[in-house]
Amino acid sequence: MNHPRSEQLYARARAVIPGGVNSPVRAFRAVGGTPLFIARGEGQYLIDADGRRYLDFVGSWGPLILGHAHPEVIRAIGTAAAAGTTFGAPCAGEVELAERVVAAYPGIEQVRFVSSGTEAVMSAIRLARAVTGRDLIVKFSGCYHGHADHLLVAAGSGLATFGRPSSAGVPEPFTACTRVLPLDDEAALAALMAREGAQIAAVIIEPVPANHGLLPQRREFLARLRELTRAQGTLLIFDEVISGFRLARGGAAERLGITPDLATFGKVIGGGLPVGAFAGPRSLMARLAPDGDTYQAGTLSGNPVAMASGLATLEVLTRENGWQRLEALGEALEAALRPVLAGAPFPVHLVRVGSLFWLSMHTEGAPRTAAALTDAASARYGRLFHALLEQGIYFPPSAYEACFLSLAHQEADLQTLTRGLQLAFAAAA
Ligand SMILES: *Cc1c(COP(=O)(O)O)cnc(C)c1O
Repeated sequence: MNHPRSEQLYARARAVIPGGVNSPVRAFRAVGGTPLFIARGEGQYLIDADGRRYLDFVGSWGPLILGHAHPEVIRAIGTAAAAGTTFGAPCAGEVELAERVVAAYPGIEQVRFVSSGTEAVMSAIRLARAVTGRDLIVKFSGCYHGHADHLLVAAGSGLATFGRPSSAGVPEPFTACTRVLPLDDEAALAALMAREGAQIAAVIIEPVPANHGLLPQRREFLARLRELTRAQGTLLIFDEVISGFRLARGGAAERLGITPDLATFGKVIGGGLPVGAFAGPRSLMARLAPDGDTYQAGTLSGNPVAMASGLATLEVLTRENGWQRLEALGEALEAALRPVLAGAPFPVHLVRVGSLFWLSMHTEGAPRTAAALTDAASARYGRLFHALLEQGIYFPPSAYEACFLSLAHQEADLQTLTRGLQLAFAAAA
């Protein structure tokens, strides 16, 4: 397919931006080809620089739960921006959004806003270390928590759970306090907690892991995690940057009926503007400056335009019964896709939680741990991706990324996807 404008922009971008992109997955390295430069978004559609329109199942990787350029969100942003874009002083929007988060999410009383999910996680971990007076943290293989140094870790080999830096530029000592565990493994978790629990400040997990495909966990595993952390005085952090305000009003915590000590938010909470947040009970949050001794700050934190965007998004979601409608849309997607997947010429399985879904190319079906795809499966996904793109359907440019439904998607769009996949399977085989 020809994308002359995108090609030109990409060539210019590569000269002045490393790899031509400001976040690596956008470069299409996993699927090949030229990344599309996007000129506009409208509801469920993206329009690229060459004027081609795509049915979008990425939704900017999560924030756009109402679809692109929702009129009410755009109006709220315009009104807020006209009154000034930043003050470096408190504004009413921060209070309103914080009140909404507190009312929505189980077990929290206070929220602090930041500007990204990375920042939210980084700050929540600092707070957990301050509150517990402990240094160690635990993460799970396959969960992504942003790019703070001490979280860019890969599991060590064999029995060792010591994290090794997974990126250049991260000194070994920075990850020496991070332990890495496999998902879905109560025995490994119990062994680590028995061995080092008294030194572990926090265990962080995506309660519905959605950054290595979609890896829904058994509730028993998460319940055991809750029990073992509580027994050791270790804080449990739910990273709800994707799942928060997407899977339910109270995020994955509400859906699972498991309450963490701290929660982090991003994506949906900003409705498409840069917002992150971390939250917890007053007893923990009180350790933050200016009341407490744990420093945390941000020039654009609680920015009035971003707060207005988040507020308008949550307002529409609530008023329009958003979470229920998205669940119904997800069910309709499953029903529509099931026969097509069953007839696919290679292994492909639909994994879905609410409005998140993933086409797993694993031979053995839907995994619960961060298993690697074979080269053949990854290559097949690349062909599938391009065959969909040809038909005007925009899927994530990596076999490990989940897809997103929004309230802008209609039943007819699910039919378009079903037909598109049928053709794409034949092309990818
Ligand atoms: C996206 C994401 C982050 C990082 O958020 P940014 O806004 O990209 O920094 C952290 N945790 C999870 C679960 C995410 O999906």
